[in-house]
Amino acid sequence: MTKVVDHIKNSSSALFSFEILPPHAGESINMLFDNIAPLMEFKPKFIDVTYHREEFVLKKRAGGLLEQKSIRKRPGTVAICAALMHKFHVDTVPHIICGGFTKEETEYALIDLNYLGIDNVLALRGDSIKGQSDFSASQGGHAFASELVEQIQAMNHGRYIDADLENAIPTNFCIGVAGYPEKHFEAANLTTDLKWLKHKVDCGAEYIVTQMFFDNSKFFSFVDKCREAGINIPIIPGLKPLTSKKQISMLASRFHIDIPEDLADAVAKARDDKEVRQIGVEWTINQSKELLTKKAPCLHFYSMGKSTAIRDIAEHLY
Ligand code: FAD
Repeated sequence: MTKVVDHIKNSSSALFSFEILPPHAGESINMLFDNIAPLMEFKPKFIDVTYHREEFVLKKRAGGLLEQKSIRKRPGTVAICAALMHKFHVDTVPHIICGGFTKEETEYALIDLNYLGIDNVLALRGDSIKGQSDFSASQGGHAFASELVEQIQAMNHGRYIDADLENAIPTNFCIGVAGYPEKHFEAANLTTDLKWLKHKVDCGAEYIVTQMFFDNSKFFSFVDKCREAGINIPIIPGLKPLTSKKQISMLASRFHIDIPEDLADAVAKARDDKEVRQIGVEWTINQSKELLTKKAPCLHFYSMGKSTAIRDIAEHLY
């Protein structure tokens, strides 16, 4: 497998990559294959696969009593990465999150990835459990992504949790982390957020993938501020084409991002979602073209389960 940073180093032009969600439990992996097959002709250098932590739902027991159950709606991130590699001969980047895991469980997952020859990971803290306002670390788990980066980096140096292991093989993970051009919603300000981003880099992160944004000036300003803060690793912009009216408020509230006035106005005037999709595709093409002229190392697209809009965009660019 090739590391994301080596793909970037070895290419003279911007790479194409995208992020997918694992199917819901009970769905066939073939649906996922069919969905992304049209994107493979654009030769993505890597595909990210998100990780979804458990949720708590109320289920009615016999007798009518409600019982709280823990369920995982989209399991299988590691298996999907292996299946995609096998099917499409493409590098995959599983997302590894802190929430819901002890350090030992994280180590076991990393050992599995190492056996599978998957050398890329995106290290994230993860969000709070649905319905809870604050993120809380699992007992014996990590509270911040930087701690996860430290654990992975320790394994890259042959240091596992059990200090008595002798001749433990060093892993070879290339570690990516998340960055937020419009700041992480919990951070007091962008400067503080950048301080913690720099800390993730100092702990061993080799590249950054950003939260989606719709205003390129926010990305360019973020890159400048990162460089001023001494963050010198590749910064990959994350892009999402709008495809429906309801996404305007959903994306703004879920991801804590601004939708530019021009885009919001155009979407508001659209007669239906078909028109919104066209507006969204054109907006992302324009964003992409500018990012390409300013030498972005890679354009990374959020599919959120749908690939056709990304296909239309890729056709214009690659
Ligand atoms: P961190 O880097 O740990 O930062 C979290 C907050 O704590 C920030 O406000 C930061 O400023 C602050 N902070 C960091 N370190 C410290 C410290 N040592 N002391 C005090 N404050 C600190 N979520 C998922 O559940 N699954 C996914 O697959 C997934 N994929 C994502 C992919 C990308 C590209 C992005 C941008 C986000 C993704 N997320 C995913 C969402 C992510 O988990 C959330 O945004 C989460 O709230 C923060 O994760 P982080 O890794 O950025 O956290």
